[in-house]
Amino acid sequence: MRDLTNQARVPGSPPLGGTAFAQQEGGTRPPPSHAFKLRDDILPLAATLATLGLWEFEPASGALAGNGTLNRLHGLPADHDARTEDLLARIHPEDRGRVEAALAALEHDHEVARLDIEYRVLRQDDGALRWLRASGAPLAGSGPGFRHFVGITLDVTDGKLAEQQLRVVWQRDPLTGLPGRGLLYEYCSHLLAMAHRTHSSGAMLFIDLDRFKPINDTHGHGVGDLVLQQVAKRLLACVRQEDIVGRLGGDEFVVAIPHPDDRYGPATVAKHIIRSLGEPFHVANLQLHLSASIGISLYPRHGSDLDSLLKAADHAMYMAKQGGSNRYRFFNPIDEGSEDRDMQIESLLRQALDNDGLQLLYQPVIDMQTGMTVCVEALLRLPLAVGEVLAPDAFLPVAESSGLINRLGDWVLSEVGRQHAHWCLAGLPGMPICVNIAPQQFRQRGFVGHLMDSLNRSGMDPRFLQIELKESTVLEGVPDSVAALRQIRQFGVQVALDDFGSGFSSIGLLSSLPVDTLKIDQVFVQSIAQDPQSRAIADTVLALGRSLRLKVVGEGIESEAVFSYLHDRGCNQAQGYYFSKPLSAGEFEQWRRQEQSHAESVH
Ligand code: C2E
Ligand code: MG
Ligand code: MG
Repeated sequence: MRDLTNQARVPGSPPLGGTAFAQQEGGTRPPPSHAFKLRDDILPLAATLATLGLWEFEPASGALAGNGTLNRLHGLPADHDARTEDLLARIHPEDRGRVEAALAALEHDHEVARLDIEYRVLRQDDGALRWLRASGAPLAGSGPGFRHFVGITLDVTDGKLAEQQLRVVWQRDPLTGLPGRGLLYEYCSHLLAMAHRTHSSGAMLFIDLDRFKPINDTHGHGVGDLVLQQVAKRLLACVRQEDIVGRLGGDEFVVAIPHPDDRYGPATVAKHIIRSLGEPFHVANLQLHLSASIGISLYPRHGSDLDSLLKAADHAMYMAKQGGSNRYRFFNPIDEGSEDRDMQIESLLRQALDNDGLQLLYQPVIDMQTGMTVCVEALLRLPLAVGEVLAPDAFLPVAESSGLINRLGDWVLSEVGRQHAHWCLAGLPGMPICVNIAPQQFRQRGFVGHLMDSLNRSGMDPRFLQIELKESTVLEGVPDSVAALRQIRQFGVQVALDDFGSGFSSIGLLSSLPVDTLKIDQVFVQSIAQDPQSRAIADTVLALGRSLRLKVVGEGIESEAVFSYLHDRGCNQAQGYYFSKPLSAGEFEQWRRQEQSHAESVH
């Protein structure tokens, strides 16, 4: 007998078969007493030892032959003469259809070259639920017309349980024990499916901790981790049992609230959370302070799947942070139903101011005699998303109450200066631009100096600026107003009284005001055709203008009839949709070029 260990050795390498064996056995192996062949009947024995179900299956007839282990795996006695139906009957009802379809495919779909399927069986003998895996292949020589499969079936329950366990570990945040992203998706997709079926609502809170990073950076991750654990506990204490609290990672948490109601709504929960996380954290002899910014999205209003709800809540959270942190925001800024609409608008305004996100539109003002554009009014807009803008009536009150109005006013003045310079460079003759000034802005200390600084910065000739103030703004604190307006006009800036007509008290007072123009309140202009009183007021304003040598502008003209009425009574200028709606800067430039080329072609 040859010594197998001495075959084909590379010099210096250990003998084949391994060094350990060679040393133990003193370098020699006892020769086998005799050579033998693998016994033919070893397979059934091995199958029994390995608890392996063996089977043969004819898809065309559905005939099945299997060993005793196959029966036992399905909860049948080993010696049972089992047919395919007997085994199928033991399969968990949720899996049975799938197995039947796979068996049918073996018969009909000749592309199927293997069977590989996992299913659960409900064993009736011991009541256990077990996972089995069946694998098979067609026997060589069984052609497309007649196929005969052989295969094995294994109990894979232990592996399945381990896998499930692993998934749970993966899906749970090991630090806080809260569901992680995976589990959140699983839970929330159930909740959403249920909410869809029952037509109920839901809310998603996206919570981001403010000032967490400095804690980690200053005191180390150990302290940071302990804080996160306490945060998780506090969050759980703020919600009901049926709500879900999860951790997305880092300092981001999520709360899903199925079927919120008036008493227990997302805003209430958000307030609870903000209050709770605002309490000091005591960790490792340290007293640490945090706060939270929370974004809220609502199902179904802001999205019907988890991704869009999370995205909306994340976006709202971002706005909350922009708004100064330690607050909550609902998604969708123009939703009337939302409780903190003003807070959202304020944060949008801040965002727009920080990122140059505001827009000015320009509405032409027409000379009634010549029909030519003589000046243009700049009108502010807050763009939200593509095609969505907020009009001043919606955001000006918020800007005033939040104190942002002066920043807005500054932006408008500087943008008008920039735009004016741009049009001049583009070859358009200079034209006055009318800018609306809010009452608060006009009354701020040093307004006049501020206005002049702004003009100086942009290099705009003051003659090309007209400020528009509401009648009421000027009449409040007349002596100061008069002094300020006088100064402003001395610089060459023109002044108009906007929305004029309702608050006027005496001609004596008006004659003392240093103004150039009266703009008839469009409330009256728009009802000239049908309301005699409006006609009377328009007539009075026109008469006043004439006697005080002030220009009068008819604003809000929407029809030929109103235009003719005012034109016939000596109104100087006209503004309104009848001529043009407010235009973008580019459109207004085009408007003027067309007007220019039309005038040139006439002469
Ligand atoms: P306003 O100064 O009296 O501006 C005229 C308003 O009437 C504008 O509304 C304009 O779009 C609208 N309008 C013009 N023609 C017609 C028409 O024929 N029909 C109708 N229905 N409306 C017409 P907008 O742009 O919504 O502005 C509203 C108000 O917001 C302005 O009234 C002004 O008081 C204020 N505002 C606008 N921009 C600014 C700004 O930059 N700063 C300040 N402080 N206020 C502004
Ligand atoms: Mg105006
Ligand atoms: Mg007006």
